[in-house]
Amino acid sequence: METATERSWIELNIENLKHNVRILREAIPPACELMAVVKADAYGHGACATATVLNQMEITAFAVATVEEGIQLRKHGIRGEILILGYTDVKRVQDLQKYDLTQTLLDFAYARALNSRNAAVKTHIKIDTGMHRLGISGEEISAVRKVFEMKNLKICGIYTHLCCADSRLPEDIAFTRRQIDSFYRLTDALKNSGIQLPKLHIQSSCGFLNYPDLVCDYVRVGIALYGVSSVPDNEAVLQPALRPVLALKSRVVLIRFIGKGDSVGYGRTFVAGRDSRIAVIPVGYGDGFPGSLSGKNVSVLVNRQSVPVVGRICMDQLTVDITDAENVKVGDIVTLIGTEEEQNVSAPVVAQSAGSISNELLCRLGTRLPIVMK
Ligand SMILES: *Cc1c(COP(=O)(O)O)cnc(C)c1O
Repeated sequence: METATERSWIELNIENLKHNVRILREAIPPACELMAVVKADAYGHGACATATVLNQMEITAFAVATVEEGIQLRKHGIRGEILILGYTDVKRVQDLQKYDLTQTLLDFAYARALNSRNAAVKTHIKIDTGMHRLGISGEEISAVRKVFEMKNLKICGIYTHLCCADSRLPEDIAFTRRQIDSFYRLTDALKNSGIQLPKLHIQSSCGFLNYPDLVCDYVRVGIALYGVSSVPDNEAVLQPALRPVLALKSRVVLIRFIGKGDSVGYGRTFVAGRDSRIAVIPVGYGDGFPGSLSGKNVSVLVNRQSVPVVGRICMDQLTVDITDAENVKVGDIVTLIGTEEEQNVSAPVVAQSAGSISNELLCRLGTRLPIVMK
């Protein structure tokens, strides 16, 4: 047995990742490129492994959240543009240069501070069109023009972020349209004042799937690349046939019999209504499988059968009721996220049971789980 799959592990289906790249490329407008968002260790998929596959497929634009994430990719030989979406202390300007990283300009004061470090750096200007998190306001065209004049900043891109592009509610669609209009109004005004426009981008996964026709240079795709939607039953305008890349697997390490009326686990939250067989699975919230799933009727798969998690999920293990399952033995593989033939436990459904979205569920996996390529 491989040591990586003795206990619990993340299994990556690289063919599915490649499939998703092909499908998304077919769906995006011809002049637009995929910018692969690989922050938070590629949403738990392993940033270097994922970016390496993407580089082999000629993807040459990446987005990360931090300067350290960017450096890690460069140290692994990743080529192309690496955009840092979030905050970097301007003192790190030498690292931005040395590793050829592109820094987002968080607002006007940040741009001025970075420019004052007297080192030429590549940047994208972030525009706030209504999210009110990062960015220079889309109304402040003169501030944006001034940033273009800052001599140490090479402006390679200008972008905004949509805050309710996932929603199909009319008021949210109207808000998103106003965000998009505000962004293009700004870029048109820049162009009219003689500025040669750098790369433009607006959409993340749901922005792209709900507003697929925007004319941009990049779409910043994260969760869709990993083949799932953020929530179950997403009703996006575009429904490409994406395939999940990640599966979370573990093994049955112990089977025990308990009598009717016996409880299992901390707090005695599960009390058996009949004589039962319980299997112990060595994966818990310390591995990123949310403790908040305790008592939420989630099931996992073993030998293509769905079995319920019972009792509280612990840091390192959880328990399932296998009384109704057939042929379950110690050593059998358990699928906590993923498919076993026609049976499926999807990340969006598990995430929703935990009161969250796939993005969070996936990126919290893997602090101690080995990643195995399929
Ligand atoms: C994380 C992030 C993305 C990717 O979002 P997905 O929903 O995973 O596609 C895109 N843009 C920005 C600014 C982000 O922070």
